[in-house]
Amino acid sequence: MPELPEVEVVRQQLESHIVGGTIQNVWIGRDDIVRQGLKSLPWYIKTQLVAVQRCGKSVALVCEQAGERRYMVAELGMTGLLLFDRQSVPSEKHLHVVIQLSNAKQGALHYWNARRFGRLSFLHAQEWEAYRQRRFGLDPLTVSENEFAALIKGCRGRVKALLLNQQRIAGIGNIYANEMLFRAGIHPDAQGHRLSKKRIQLLFGEMQEVLLESIDKGGSSIRDYLSPTGTQGQFQNYHQVYQKTRQPCPRCTTPILRLVSERSSFVCPSCQKR
Ligand SMILES: [Zn+2]
Repeated sequence: MPELPEVEVVRQQLESHIVGGTIQNVWIGRDDIVRQGLKSLPWYIKTQLVAVQRCGKSVALVCEQAGERRYMVAELGMTGLLLFDRQSVPSEKHLHVVIQLSNAKQGALHYWNARRFGRLSFLHAQEWEAYRQRRFGLDPLTVSENEFAALIKGCRGRVKALLLNQQRIAGIGNIYANEMLFRAGIHPDAQGHRLSKKRIQLLFGEMQEVLLESIDKGGSSIRDYLSPTGTQGQFQNYHQVYQKTRQPCPRCTTPILRLVSERSSFVCPSCQKR
């Protein structure tokens, strides 16, 4: 299930392998995979891919011709994959889009998603801007410490629910929310506005650190995640609490507890205080 680190690894690999290439053809298996902009598809043929952007758990291929830029946006959501090699595609049944490229290190990009509806959009610049505004809050890697503190201080509910709210802060899912709260010694049920300034600073630092460490390890491969080159991430080997129920806390050896709320929470009852 891709979260920010996995999607950032996808972005980086697309940037290094296919930016600069020309789109020769786009095959779409069924029209209902396209959420928005299907009619504008012909515009993209023979455009140059000039950049790749990440926003939350979506990746946008930035296409340019005659000075105009448009955006082919793929949502990776729960199960989406972007793969260069057709042989890495888990099943032909859920292969929805194939982009053929020339003048790039890779000749194709395959979009695979076990969930079928509405996962790709073709957007003008203003539509891409509106899409980002509507769906995504602050980016955890570029947000300032002050903006982050204001977000947490304004939270009258559980801090973990806030971290998972994509419209407030985008890209954090259950794995990294659990890991960053453990590292910062904060209980998932703690109320945001009751956290001290020091705790919030600690959470800010741990949030960025755990995400960057994971990106560095190629992300976490839980279930089916593969990067575009078809390789698995390694950060699942460095998780400290996620899915570690009854295993000893790496700090104090108290057994990790699993709590069930909106999603499973994994906590050390002695390191993480409310
Ligand atoms: Zn502990």
